[in-house]
Amino acid sequence: EVKTEKMGFEAEVSRLLHMMVHSVYSDREIFLRELISNASDACDKLRYEALTKPDLASGEFGIAITADADAKTLTIEDNGIGMDRDDLIANLGTIARSGTANFVDQLTGDSKKDMQLIGQFGVGFYSVFMVADMVHVTTKKAGDEHAWLWSSAGEGSYEIAEATKEAAGTKIVLHMKDDAKEFLERFRLQKIITTYSDHIAVPITLAINGGDKKDDDADEPKVVNEGSAIWTRPKSEITDEQYAEFYRHVGHGFDDPSVTLHYKVEGMQEYTVLLFVPTKQPMDLFDPARKNRVKLYVKRVFITDDSDDLLPGWLRFMRGVVDSQDLPLNVSREMLQNNPTLERMSKAITKRVLSEFEKLAEKDTEKFEAIWGEFGAVIKEGIYEDFERRDAILKIARFKSTGVDGWTSLADYVSRMKDKQSAIYYITGTDAEAVKRSPQLEGFRAKGIEVLLLSDAVDDFWLQMAPDFEGKPFKSITRGASELKDIAGDDKEDESEKAPEGELAKLTALMKEVFGDKIKDVRASDRLTTTAACLVADDSGMDMHMERILKAHNQ
Ligand code: ADP
Ligand code: MG
Repeated sequence: EVKTEKMGFEAEVSRLLHMMVHSVYSDREIFLRELISNASDACDKLRYEALTKPDLASGEFGIAITADADAKTLTIEDNGIGMDRDDLIANLGTIARSGTANFVDQLTGDSKKDMQLIGQFGVGFYSVFMVADMVHVTTKKAGDEHAWLWSSAGEGSYEIAEATKEAAGTKIVLHMKDDAKEFLERFRLQKIITTYSDHIAVPITLAINGGDKKDDDADEPKVVNEGSAIWTRPKSEITDEQYAEFYRHVGHGFDDPSVTLHYKVEGMQEYTVLLFVPTKQPMDLFDPARKNRVKLYVKRVFITDDSDDLLPGWLRFMRGVVDSQDLPLNVSREMLQNNPTLERMSKAITKRVLSEFEKLAEKDTEKFEAIWGEFGAVIKEGIYEDFERRDAILKIARFKSTGVDGWTSLADYVSRMKDKQSAIYYITGTDAEAVKRSPQLEGFRAKGIEVLLLSDAVDDFWLQMAPDFEGKPFKSITRGASELKDIAGDDKEDESEKAPEGELAKLTALMKEVFGDKIKDVRASDRLTTTAACLVADDSGMDMHMERILKAHNQ
């Protein structure tokens, strides 16, 4: 007798499922792309495991798709890694991606906006419930004895029971909804597979059973995809749409890539790079784990998508594949740490990415600024943690400023500096709007001196590490007596911030008494034009915003 357990999806998943199934999703066909993508990942994983345990894999990897018009089922079967009971609960009972909670918080209840957001997040496996009202997943993990059956109607709960299955891998049977029967037709399925999954590196076969078999060989599975790894093909043979589909497969994204970088390196080292910059921020971009998602292959065998050494953390928004010819095939994930071959490759790729950004910034400023708007906050992390790249990053970095409406580069800021101005002035804060309105800026505005407006959390940190840009020091405007007068070229005797006299002296004396220890001094200043008073930091002291950050961390 088979024991069946009934379990609830995570609350968040339930909400998401409900939303997906009950909103009209225009691209329902993407469920098949998601299933094929997962099946291909599963084959990749087993191929890797089999490097050290050859017994695990038997024969060629493949994905078989079978439609049965009579039973109204669509079956997707792979001979990949499979899942055990724990995997099933962890992977199909939870949306297997960090940032879910954060994502669900952003849902508004407005189905149109939410669908866009769901599209951006990607829901992977769950998209099956757009077309199926019952889903059975029979799966056996490579090397295990037991097989499991996972079933769900996508309505808040799922069941797991023991099952029987000969070979390792996963078989997913979709019982199609009445309004989704189009996905049982050969022509339709073939079109979807070539549109979305032509780049998949394992063969995908399609067979149609039942219905009126006009096709002579209707039961014969036919290979319907190209079946070779896209990055191994010549650039000239790959369309933008194929690149975009591959990006969505490797990157688990739903947007289009904004930059596609595909090249091959030969000589001392041999490897192929196919990298993408997304258009939109991935949901897990600001996760503390700062995980890289670029997949490392060795001679077309997937090794890991979890290497911290393949690309620096400040490029973690990049997606794609790096395929090395030089690393040993049996390289373990542990061996990859501090591996000199990997290190050299990583350096070269990082350099190439930076130079692509530099070119783009020159050639297509608007496009580059859009990328900077999404990922600049991450790239700036490189200024403080990647000493070697600091200058290169400062060169492409873009900032908001009092001097321009959009973005400015540091070089452009410097070109607009006043004759007597020697520093690059900035103000930091947590809120872009508040920073823009800060009374600290008044004097600078009045005298026409440009100030960079920095409001990313990372800004205070890189400023500690980067003392200057091409010899021009960065200087916070919240610090002590500023050189406003000198720069603006006022010839009048410098009266700023000297000891107040008369009525003003009485006022400042009173203020000092009232504030006591809390302040160091009260001075008259001409840095303000409309506001009566503002707090400034001591020249030798710390920038005010930095002080607040450190206080918040009890430093
Ligand atoms: P993602 O692919 O982005 O991780 P999915 O919702 O598509 O998210 O899949 C969730 C997880 O379920 C996968 O990461 C994988 O661990 C597991 N999974 C899904 N399909 C299969 C399959 N055919 N074989 C093995 N594992 C699978
Ligand atoms: Mg997936």
